[in-house]
Amino acid sequence: MARVTGARATRFAPSPTGPLHLGHAFAALTAAARGDRFLLRIEDIDTARSKPEFEAALYDDLHWLGLSWETPVLRQSERLGLYQQTIDRLTENGLTYHCACTRGDIRAALSAPQEGAPVIGPDGPVYPGTCRHAGHPDGALRLDMAKAMAHLGEISFTDTGTRPGLHRRSAADMIREIGDIVLARRDIGTSYHIAVVTDDAAQGITEVTRGEDLFDATFIHALLIRLLSLPQPVWHHHRLIRDQSGKRLAKRDDARALAKYRSEGASPADISRILDLSLSS
Ligand code: GLU
Repeated sequence: MARVTGARATRFAPSPTGPLHLGHAFAALTAAARGDRFLLRIEDIDTARSKPEFEAALYDDLHWLGLSWETPVLRQSERLGLYQQTIDRLTENGLTYHCACTRGDIRAALSAPQEGAPVIGPDGPVYPGTCRHAGHPDGALRLDMAKAMAHLGEISFTDTGTRPGLHRRSAADMIREIGDIVLARRDIGTSYHIAVVTDDAAQGITEVTRGEDLFDATFIHALLIRLLSLPQPVWHHHRLIRDQSGKRLAKRDDARALAKYRSEGASPADISRILDLSLSS
């Protein structure tokens, strides 16, 4: 398909780790409706959990919903070398360090009496900085948040979704509430954060449309975009589809799988109706 410059480009970025459910349908339909160009990206860096059969099923479900997207579809498992280049740029600027801590080490450090109550960031408890000056030659690679923020002042982004407007965090907030996040996991050599900013830039995404569960992670992405001088999109965080008890849908909720609705004879129009009901409830 021809590329239209200046047009709004959105994407749907599922991980093929389970069947698509109503929440995914909502995310995909929202993104497609908001874009002049609609792109698809398979977020399969977690090779232990990603399965080809889930990837095949998701194309089928999305076609059934009536969606079409530009090709070729970008698959993250084929782009690990590019993610490494992104990571290398941060390392060359002296913003990273290796961390040898296990989860247990981090829990133990955070439970030390002088630490106070741990702050929970987008990736879990904020890392206490144990390895920051240890000079380990390998291990998970972390961002030194204080160094990263030293010249930036504050991080901000615009949301056009559930919390419309400009959102900002000072350097002190970024250090306290997000901290030294992992940029490259020991097992896969990258992270969701690195992959997503590399790929949104590569795909020319102008509006990142995704669930509001990722709202706090967007501060990480806005920061990485600044550090890497990538084009800054706007974000459209949408509400999450919940079940009757108000619990957010998860991949294991097979009862809400699109395949289940399909096998029971539902039409794409029925799905839209169900989603509208969820929207107004
Ligand atoms: N891969 C993520 C998911 O399956 C979506 C990430 C994003 O939209 O940035 O929830």
